[in-house]
Amino acid sequence: MFKQASWEEPIIFNLRREGRKGHIPPKLEEEIKKAVGEADTLIPKSMQRTSPLRLPELSEAEVTRHFIRLSEMNFGVDSGFYPLGSCTMKYNPKINEQLANLPTIAMIHPYQDESTVQGILEILYALERWLAELTGTQEVCLHPAAGAHGEFLGTLLMRAYHKMNGEDGKRSEVIVPDSAHGTNPASAAMAGFKVVVVPSDEEGCVNLEALKAAVSEKTAGLMLTNPNTLGIFEKNIEEIAKTIHEAGGLLYYDGANLNPLLGIVRPGDMGFDIVHINIHKTFATPHGGGGPGAGPVGVSEELAEFLPVPRITYDGEKYRLDYDKPHSIGKIRSFYGNVAVLLKAYAYILSLGFEGLKEVAEVSVLNANYIMHKLKGVKGLTLPYNSRKPRKHECVFSAKPLKSETGVSALNIAKRLLDYGFHAPTIYFPLIVEEALMIEPTETFEKEELDRFVDAMQKICEEAYNNPEAVLKAPHNTAVPRLDEVKASHPKTMALSWRMFNKRMGEIEVLNK
Ligand SMILES: *Cc1c(COP(=O)(O)O)cnc(C)c1O
Repeated sequence: MFKQASWEEPIIFNLRREGRKGHIPPKLEEEIKKAVGEADTLIPKSMQRTSPLRLPELSEAEVTRHFIRLSEMNFGVDSGFYPLGSCTMKYNPKINEQLANLPTIAMIHPYQDESTVQGILEILYALERWLAELTGTQEVCLHPAAGAHGEFLGTLLMRAYHKMNGEDGKRSEVIVPDSAHGTNPASAAMAGFKVVVVPSDEEGCVNLEALKAAVSEKTAGLMLTNPNTLGIFEKNIEEIAKTIHEAGGLLYYDGANLNPLLGIVRPGDMGFDIVHINIHKTFATPHGGGGPGAGPVGVSEELAEFLPVPRITYDGEKYRLDYDKPHSIGKIRSFYGNVAVLLKAYAYILSLGFEGLKEVAEVSVLNANYIMHKLKGVKGLTLPYNSRKPRKHECVFSAKPLKSETGVSALNIAKRLLDYGFHAPTIYFPLIVEEALMIEPTETFEKEELDRFVDAMQKICEEAYNNPEAVLKAPHNTAVPRLDEVKASHPKTMALSWRMFNKRMGEIEVLNK
């Protein structure tokens, strides 16, 4: 069993001692003084800070210990198995971080003249071409900062397209299957569309009859995830595409999870007109906790003229930022997107090459199916929606029988997994599976680790029958014991900073009583 480090580590501000500092070599200290002096003359007095920065004063070793200890009380994809379904938590090669931190990348400014940033423009241009090739689209826009942002752009593109055809007011509905990620209906609604939900059939795919009944001259488009959030490939995709296109709608592909398809099939070839992908899931950039991501959008030739500005162009000699696009929907984000994140994706793609990317797809699918087969016989769990059908990158189990027989829920299993040294899978999503455990192993982990996970799942389900208290009160071995889920996310008790925490201590104590 796993035991996490548990330090009584104070907040860094409580460790400070006035006047204490890290060692700065004398020569560097001189240079810093000089730079500060120069800044004094360069920055207008009215814009200079009048009070000193409130930074904690500590020695270098104290800072190192503090953050190492905090990291030891945390769980990340570098510490172990992290099967967070649909969120694709895979190993992110460290060399990508080093490349993104090169001064020639990290120090460039978006307002620099384009003649001085030819290198990064070349990288972004080449990345656009790679992503267009991998998704089977014509043009790619790298600007959106996340998957949901890409979806929002995609639905705005639908709007622009219908407007061009004189059907702006008429095409008012976007169809979304009931297995969709919550961001899909939210994005469509934000773009001003009415959301029409279609149910899944008993195979876990879009119910074709229901889809045909939902389609009309009001349909602006369909947003589809394929493989869907159950990890199942929509085998009727060609008929779905035909249905939507014949009705005059557009087909939107939620490619947040492109892992299982890389180099094997392309959404563009399935008939999709607009595709977003999550760089921070498929193309290896650390994410979680709201870290920076990127959700590029690829489109078919017909829609390219509507993409946001600036577009990067290349005339065989120079890269340019082209703002002269009369039909563009305008800007979706400041400047050119999350450039450091995009650079890491480019490095990842180049280091694997086309064959390597294909292997990512094959191994991620193999791993998900291995886990699915190993967990299938476990007492208390079921695999809803045709348990004989292979899955793609993830599989979704239901702990409904376990809960009704022992009281142990999907949430309890997730908590207990932490005691065994595994991050919890995604739970209670997709909404069409009760007591859902959504497991995505990715291509990162080797068979031994998958076996250890399966073993832990089996043990936990056995515990649920023999010693349910152990599971119901888990986790026991983590740095922080079981959290109160309500308080942890309640606007009255959530404290996101030290200052907020101090301010709220009083209120929290009142709530505790
Ligand atoms: C993660 C995810 C999204 C949203 O992506 P964000 O970058 O979190 O906004 C959309 N759809 C699916 C299927 C996802 O897994």
